[in-house]
Amino acid sequence: GRASPPLAALSQVLRLERSRRTGIVFPLQKLERYLAPGTDTARFRLFQPGLAALQRAEALFRSDRGHPIDYVSSAVRMDHAPPPALPEVCFIGRSNVGKSSLIRALFSLAPEVEVRVSKTPGHTKKMNFFKVGKYFMLVDMPGYGYRAPQDFVEMVEAYLQERHNLKRTFLLVDGVVGLQKTDNIAVEMLEEFGIPYVMVLTKIDRASRGVLLKNVLEIQEFVKENTQGCFPQLFLVSSVEFSGVHLLRCFVAHVTGNLPTVETS
Ligand code: GDP
Repeated sequence: GRASPPLAALSQVLRLERSRRTGIVFPLQKLERYLAPGTDTARFRLFQPGLAALQRAEALFRSDRGHPIDYVSSAVRMDHAPPPALPEVCFIGRSNVGKSSLIRALFSLAPEVEVRVSKTPGHTKKMNFFKVGKYFMLVDMPGYGYRAPQDFVEMVEAYLQERHNLKRTFLLVDGVVGLQKTDNIAVEMLEEFGIPYVMVLTKIDRASRGVLLKNVLEIQEFVKENTQGCFPQLFLVSSVEFSGVHLLRCFVAHVTGNLPTVETS
C-alpha cells in the first residue's frame, strides 16, 4: 500500500520540538497567546485529551487484518443506506471546503481506504459510508454549493432526521474565508432538528494568524449567540500539515463511545 504522509501518526509528531508539536496537536491552543489579555479562553479547552487518549483513538484509525477500515457503500436515498447498526458521525460542508481532504487525512493510517469524490457538475452527489472496524461508521455527505441544490437539502434533511445512530455532525467551515451565507443553510437545518454538531475550521495552513484569529473569534461569538446544538469549542484542521487531525480523531472516538475515559492533558 501507499506510505502514510509525514505527521499522519502521533509517533512522528512527538519527535517535533514542543511548540511545533502543540501547534499540530492543539492548533487552537497555539492561538491563545495572541489573544488580548482577559479574553475568555474557557471554550478553547473543553476537549483536551491526554496522550493516552490520543493514542487509543489513533489505534482505531489504523487498520489491520483484525481491524478493517472500509468504504461500505454510497447512497442517494435513505432506504439505500447501510443498516444503522453502529454509532455514526457525519461530515458536511460547502463544496471545496476541504471535506474529502480531511476524511483522507483522518484515514491516512488506513491507506487502502479510497475516499471517492464526485465533482463533475451535474453528477449525482451521494452519501458515502465508511466502516471503522466494529466500532463506528463515518459518513461523507454531499457538499452544498452556491445554489444549494434541492437534492442536497432533501437528502441531508432526511438523513439528519432519520438516522438515529448519528452521534455527532461535523460541519466544516473554510478557515480562510470564515462562515458564509450558504453555511447558514446547514446551521439552520441542524438547529431546527436539534442535532448535536461541531464546527471544524479547515485549511488553517493557508490562513495568516490574523485572519485565523478573526475567524475563530467571530465564529465563537456566532456559536455563543445563535446556536443551541453546537459544541462551544471549535476544531481547527489542516489536512496538509495534519494540524488538528489527531485531536479530531480523538473527538470522533470519544463521541462514538469508543473512549471510555478522556483524561485531560
Ligand atoms: P471538498 O469539495 O470539500 O471535498 O474539498 P477538497 O478536499 O477537494 O479540497 C478543495 C481544495 O482545497 C483542493 O484543492 C484541496 O487541495 C484544497 N485543500 C483541502 N484541504 C486543505 C488544507 O488543509 N490545506 C490546504 N492548503 N489546502 C487544502
